[in-house]
Amino acid sequence: MDKTTICDKCKSKVPVNQVKYVPKDENTMMVVCNDCASGKTSKKPAPSTTKIKYFCGRCKYKFKHDPKSLRELQCPFCGKSDRIMDDNTDAASVLQEVSNPSFSDRIY
Ligand SMILES: [Zn+2]
Ligand SMILES: [Zn+2]
Repeated sequence: MDKTTICDKCKSKVPVNQVKYVPKDENTMMVVCNDCASGKTSKKPAPSTTKIKYFCGRCKYKFKHDPKSLRELQCPFCGKSDRIMDDNTDAASVLQEVSNPSFSDRIY
């Protein structure tokens, strides 16, 4: 059974064995979690990298791009941007589509 308490700073639940008591003023102490005690603001987690994986459908080139950067999103390989998609989407289905042109032939 883990006892928990509330951090006075970030108001998040923390196990009592992980809190620190810091003086708030002369008479009162406040309970803070490790993160707050060490000065870290745990409220907004800063991701170490903001780069997202992309995939160029033209040349099958995978690359990373930081959407917050001022650089335009384009494939570093072919320099085009019209076939770029998230690499989270299933790249295998894209490859299948390309290697199986009979599908589009059959429509017309
Ligand atoms: Zn806290
Ligand atoms: Zn490309």
